[in-house]
Amino acid sequence: MTPPLDTPSTALPLPHPLVRSQPAAPPSAQPAAPPKQTPQTLIDRYGRVAKDLRVSLTDRCNLRCTYCMPAEGLEWIPTPQTLTDAETIRLIALGVNQLGIEQVRFTGGEPLLRKSLEDIIAATKDLRTAAGTAPTVALTTNGLGLDRRAAGLKAAGLDRVNISLDTLDRELYARLTRRDRLPGVLAAIDAALEANFSPVKINAVIMPGVNEDSILPLAHFALSRGAQLRFIEQMPLGPRSQWRREQMVTADDILATLAKDFALTPATQPRGSAPAALWEATPRTASATPAGQLGVIASVSYSFCGDCDRTRLTTDGAVRNCLFGNSETSLRDLMRAGASDAELAQAWAGEMWRKLPGHGVNDEGFLQPDRPMSAIGG
Ligand code: SAM
Ligand code: SF4
Repeated sequence: MTPPLDTPSTALPLPHPLVRSQPAAPPSAQPAAPPKQTPQTLIDRYGRVAKDLRVSLTDRCNLRCTYCMPAEGLEWIPTPQTLTDAETIRLIALGVNQLGIEQVRFTGGEPLLRKSLEDIIAATKDLRTAAGTAPTVALTTNGLGLDRRAAGLKAAGLDRVNISLDTLDRELYARLTRRDRLPGVLAAIDAALEANFSPVKINAVIMPGVNEDSILPLAHFALSRGAQLRFIEQMPLGPRSQWRREQMVTADDILATLAKDFALTPATQPRGSAPAALWEATPRTASATPAGQLGVIASVSYSFCGDCDRTRLTTDGAVRNCLFGNSETSLRDLMRAGASDAELAQAWAGEMWRKLPGHGVNDEGFLQPDRPMSAIGG
């Protein structure tokens, strides 16, 4: 077992619990389409099988986080082009009933802006996987309005919630999200804890020269509240030319900051395909903060593409095999042209078969995807 990190000065470079890499090379002769299997799965040429479906329920948002959107917002997808509730549920049902999906996460844009969210969650929770179990249902949200809806969402079948919070400093929060809404997010965290979501996670993106000073206050806050905080490396998915690889705050930078206040030991539980590497964090000095777990999502510096089990559905009905790629297949167009479930399943499996081995963010010629993150679903 890796020993606890000692003092910050002796702690660098920090070991990671698990370093993911690219998947094993594919067989040299690759068929253009996935093999016929029973039951059908969303397997790719590298043997990865998608079981985690991310559904973007809208590309719109009531915040304007600087790392995600420009101040004026984006050109929203016109409503007639977006999936209706019935179309959304049909595709989720196809994924769960026929294609091996075990977890469904609703995201956006801001998924709480979708008025029918509770209905869509209830319909998802009524589905059964091949093993006869209900899928796990999760939500990633900025939290605004969650205080009023947490109990109803729980009753509808929501299992887990991730709330985004990049700082506890109200003035900085307002600058970072371009809206003075911090109290609403704090109320959301209270409500989620009260509704007994298990676990309540907090997502914090760390940007150079912006909120590095928020790392330790966020860690103390989350541990004190019994929420699981995950720091996220900023990814090149927001307004163009804002992200610089050489300037980004890396997972190691974040861990070095945490090591000032906490002894960190890699968590022993298996990580599986989870994006976050977890650490047991024990305060160095007697403090009101209890020991607990902290996570770091190092999508850029310790890519976990080799274990990716995700597939994505955009609000206008395209399936995508990667957050960073440009490949997509419009199931909406097929559906509206009268495709059967079998034809839709085949098209979805074909999209996943094309998944590349890695996201390529660290490659010289990397180009940002044509859709912003809010339109793909983060
Ligand atoms: N609006 C919801 C929210 O903010 O939680 C859901 C959608 S948002 C796109 C999903 C997650 O992606 C959030 O935790 C957000 O902080 C994160 N995110 C957005 N842009 C990002 C970027 N450029 N790099 C890293 N994470 C990003
Ligand atoms: Fe909205 Fe989430 Fe993007 Fe912030 S990160 S602008 S809350 S979609």
